[in-house]
Amino acid sequence: MKLYELTIQSAHTLLKQKEISSQELTRAVLDRIHAVEKDVNAYITVADDLAMAQAELADKTISEGNISQLTGIPLAIKDLMCTKGLRTTCASKILENFVPPYNATVVEKLRNKGAVIVGKTNMDEFAMGSSNEHSGMKMTHNPWDLTRIPGGSSGGSAAAVAADMCIGSLGSDTGGSVRQPASHCSVVGMKPTYGRVSRFGLVAFASSLDQIGPLTKDVTDCAILMNAISGYDSRDSTSVPEDVPDYTASLTDGLEGVTIGIPKEYYAVGGLDPDVSGSVKNAIGKIEDMGAKCVDISLPHTEYAVAAYYVIAPSEASSNLARYDGVRYGFRDKDRSDLMEMYRNTRSEGFGPEVQRRIIIGTYCLSAGYYDAYYGKASQVRTLIMEDFKKAFENCDAILSPVTPSPAFPVGENIDDPLTMYLSDIFTLSANLAGIPGISVPCGFSSKGLPIGLQIMGRHFNEEMLLKIAYNFEQATDFHKKKPVLQ
Ligand code: GLN
Repeated sequence: MKLYELTIQSAHTLLKQKEISSQELTRAVLDRIHAVEKDVNAYITVADDLAMAQAELADKTISEGNISQLTGIPLAIKDLMCTKGLRTTCASKILENFVPPYNATVVEKLRNKGAVIVGKTNMDEFAMGSSNEHSGMKMTHNPWDLTRIPGGSSGGSAAAVAADMCIGSLGSDTGGSVRQPASHCSVVGMKPTYGRVSRFGLVAFASSLDQIGPLTKDVTDCAILMNAISGYDSRDSTSVPEDVPDYTASLTDGLEGVTIGIPKEYYAVGGLDPDVSGSVKNAIGKIEDMGAKCVDISLPHTEYAVAAYYVIAPSEASSNLARYDGVRYGFRDKDRSDLMEMYRNTRSEGFGPEVQRRIIIGTYCLSAGYYDAYYGKASQVRTLIMEDFKKAFENCDAILSPVTPSPAFPVGENIDDPLTMYLSDIFTLSANLAGIPGISVPCGFSSKGLPIGLQIMGRHFNEEMLLKIAYNFEQATDFHKKKPVLQ
C-alpha cells in the first residue's frame, strides 16, 4: 500500500509506532497531488512549503511523545474556510488574492491537534452549486470518470479524498454540499447538526443553513474528524453549548433495537435513477439483515423543500455578499468614474453568473412588499419541514434515503439549466432546512461504474446514531475499498 492511500486511523498507527514520519507521509501526499492534479484539478492552492514545515513540527512533537489522532496527518480544506497566511478565495475572482489574517475555528482546532494542511480545495463559487462547474477558478473532475462532475459545492474536497490527494478533508454543507459530492466520489461525508461545529471563519453563504463537515475515506475517519472539529465556540453565537461525545465510541457492531424510517415521498421522486434506487434498496435490506427494523414514514412537505431552499439560501446570500463592494477588501474595478459605477463594475466582474443570479433572486425576495410573500412564506414552509422530521423521529431513530437522484452527470449537461441543477438537490436540502445531521456512505456503483451513496439522517445532535449505522454498513460491504484508477 502506498502511503497516500492510508486512512487517518491507519496513518496514525504507523506514526505512533514510528514506522513512518509525518514528513514522509506529507511528501507522499504532495507528490500524489502533483502527479494527478492535471487530471483531477482538485486544488486551488497547494501549500507545499507550509505543509512540509508543519510536518516537520509534527515529527518533533511526536518524538517528544505527544501525539493526537491527527498529529502529522495531511488534510485538505475547502477554500472558503479562513487559513491564516494562506490564500482563501471561495473560488471567486472577487477574493482571488485574499489572504486571511486569522484561522477559522475548525482550522485552528485541526492545527492545535497537529494536523498538516496540504492545501485549499476547489468548489463552486461561494459554495453555490452542485457540480463545481460554477467555480470561478477551474473545473474539478470526478476521479471515477474524468468527463463527469465530482459534485458540489465541496467537489474539490471530495475528489481529493477519492483520488488519495489528501488523507481527509473538510467541506461545507448548506444544502448538500458535503453529502452530494461524497456520494458522487465514493467517500464518506457528514453534515453535522446545525450548531455542532463552529462557523467562525467560514465565509458565509446562507448563515442559517451553513455547516462544516468532514469528507473521509471511511466512517472511522469521519468520527475522528468530528471529534476534532465539534464543540461550542463563543465566536459563533449559533454554535450550541452541548457536550461533544467521543464519536469513535459509537462505532460498535450490531444494529439490534435500531428503527429505520423509509420516507415514501423520497422514493416517489420523478427521475430517480433505477441504479440509485436499486443500490439504496439493497443497502436497506443489508441494514435490516444486521438487526435493524424498518418502518414506513412520511415527510409530506418534501415536495416544497427545493422551492423553500432556493428562496431562503439566495436571500441570505444576497445579504451576506453585500460586503464585497470593492471598498473594504477583495477585488476592485479600477475603471470607474464614480462610486456607484465602481460598486457595479466590481460586483459584475468579480462575481460569476451563478452568484449574480442568486444575489438578484435573493435581493428580490427580501425587497419591501415581497418579503412576506417569498422569504416569509419560505420560512413557514421550513417550519413545516422541521415538524415533518420531528413527527417522523417519534417512530424511528434514523431515516434512509438516496443522496442524489442520479449518479454524477457529464460536465456541461445541466450547466444551462439551473432548475434541473437545483432539483437534483431534492434529497439533501431538507436536512439543512431542519438543521438535522446527515451522512453519505458509499453503497454501490451504477452500471457505468459510477459511485452511489446512501444517506442516513438523524435527530438533532444524534450524529452517533448515523455513525453507528454507517459503520455497520461499511463493515458488511466493501464499496469504500474500491478506488478510482487514475494512472
Ligand atoms: N447545491 C446547493 C446550492 O447550490 C447546495 C450548496 C451547498 O450546500 N453549499 O445552493
